[in-house]
Amino acid sequence: MVQIAVPKETAAGERRVALTPEVVGRLLKEGWGVRLETGAGAEAYFSDEAYRSVGAGIVPRDQLFKGAQVVFTVQPLERLDFVQLEAGTIVVGLMAPHRSPARVQAMAASNLSALAMELVPRITRAQSMDVLSSQATVAGYVAALLAAQSSSRFLPMLTTAAGTIRPAKVMVMGVGVAGLQAIATVRRLGANVWAYDVRKAAAEQALSLGAKVIELPISAEGEGGYARELTEDEKKLQQEALAREMGNMDAVITTAQIPGRNAPILITQSMVERMGAGAVVVDLAAESGGNCELTQPGKTIEVNGVKIVGPLNLPSVLSVHASEMYAKNLYNLSKLLIKDSQLAPDWTDEILAGALLTHQGEITHAPTRALVGG
Ligand code: NAD
Repeated sequence: MVQIAVPKETAAGERRVALTPEVVGRLLKEGWGVRLETGAGAEAYFSDEAYRSVGAGIVPRDQLFKGAQVVFTVQPLERLDFVQLEAGTIVVGLMAPHRSPARVQAMAASNLSALAMELVPRITRAQSMDVLSSQATVAGYVAALLAAQSSSRFLPMLTTAAGTIRPAKVMVMGVGVAGLQAIATVRRLGANVWAYDVRKAAAEQALSLGAKVIELPISAEGEGGYARELTEDEKKLQQEALAREMGNMDAVITTAQIPGRNAPILITQSMVERMGAGAVVVDLAAESGGNCELTQPGKTIEVNGVKIVGPLNLPSVLSVHASEMYAKNLYNLSKLLIKDSQLAPDWTDEILAGALLTHQGEITHAPTRALVGG
């Protein structure tokens, strides 16, 4: 029987767990063995008892990795754990390779086969394994709630005996998975929404959710449906045009990302200074440097009466649903690892090959290899 081990997450503030009892139940029926560290699901309100009741083993960490052939995590496994794993163990989770190339190097040195969930190719067959989408959905929703909560104004229009309140104006910059969810959520709360992205396809999706679209003469479709970095002239044009629009907004939610790079700066200090006192900026890109040049990751600051919120790890806030979605993504990927109850990954499969970070002592992901080399 192929054993999966699930450790309790140790990263500060991480509340998610890689597998939920429901998914563990399914894996056990399909012939896997599953062992979790004591308390692994506690922060997502899945008790040890709930895992035991579907047939999983619950053990302390020093017994967790014994005989495990596969390890499922949310955040990257700690280096201290590598030495406890047998050579050839498949470790699956978010790996943030660009942030810690040295850890990737250590995984290769320990002869682990690391599958980075953020590198799963975004092809149709892999949609059900797409953790970037599932977790961005959570983040976009929470970002909208943060904007509402941090605002000094109502979002919906209200007609009351104490007067009529006009609906808030919210701008969403970066209309990928998180941005679309943020638009849908602030719309449900009754705000008027404006959307901006450098990809033309994003405009249609924003319109379909009832947002108004800010159109600029910049089209920056990059590879694989992602955005490319803007040229200096394009950045200047973008900032000037957005500055005019931002002056009227009660809240701005930013989600712009460029794969493998720091987040692009869309909001400068002078743009913030043009916003009205009591307005709010929620910068979902805080983790990768921020879309606003004033953002302080993990903090909320106030500049001239404008709150700038730089949240970290928003998916972890909704630990129950974020874990459920993440666990289903892992479950779908697990089908590529096993055949007739035997571990049988086909490393040439497009999905596994795309996500493979280290294998047989080598770093197999070229951009990370370049980072380590450099
Ligand atoms: P992302 O997190 O990489 O970036 C968020 C958004 O920021 C993107 O819409 C991007 O265009 C935008 N952005 C980047 N630079 C910007 C700038 N300077 N100004 C304004 N906006 C900027 O994106 P994502 O949410 O992961 O989605 C990216 C693409 O992948 C989308 O086209 C999405 O439809 C596609 N996608 C495909 C699949 C699939 O086929 N399986 C799954 C999910 C997403």
